Amino acid sequence: MTNKEFALHDVVEMKKQHPCGENRWKIIRMGMDVRIKCLGCQHSVMIPRKEFAKKIKKILEHSED
Ligand SMILES: [Zn+2]
Repeated sequence: MTNKEFALHDVVEMKKQHPCGENRWKIIRMGMDVRIKCLGCQHSVMIPRKEFAKKIKKILEHSED
């Protein structure tokens, strides 16, 4: 794991894949909690930021903005 710095609109891979079989999530909201959306089924979940940082496996796409 080289870079765990994540930002809004990045696409990330989590340690556990979503039950739908997809494992690419887009960060759609950042705050005390992070909201991510599954790119497979569009389901979104809210996770406390600290917990999110632990569950993230890697960043697949860095947002440019
Ligand atoms: Zn899903």
